[in-house]
Amino acid sequence: MKYLLVFALIGLVFWMWRSQRMDHKNRPDKQPADKPTNSSGSTGTSRTLVPATEMVACAFCQVHLPRPDAVAGQQALYCSTAHKQLAGE
Ligand SMILES: [Zn+2]
Repeated sequence: MKYLLVFALIGLVFWMWRSQRMDHKNRPDKQPADKPTNSSGSTGTSRTLVPATEMVACAFCQVHLPRPDAVAGQQALYCSTAHKQLAGE
């Protein structure tokens, strides 16, 4: 009877440990499974983020600057109106 109790306790502890491990196992398993959908979703979000942070190179001095800060010429983008004029636009 004493052994039965010990076995029951061990069985309970083992079951709890196993279910906890399964939980831990399930979480990392779920993340990679979610990641493809998340990464495809994040590419969608990065796509929306890209226009704000997109870097363009000045056609005159090749300096990189955020696209919103760039001065648009007829054929290219420039870092400043001075370089736009120097480039002959
Ligand atoms: Zn420039």
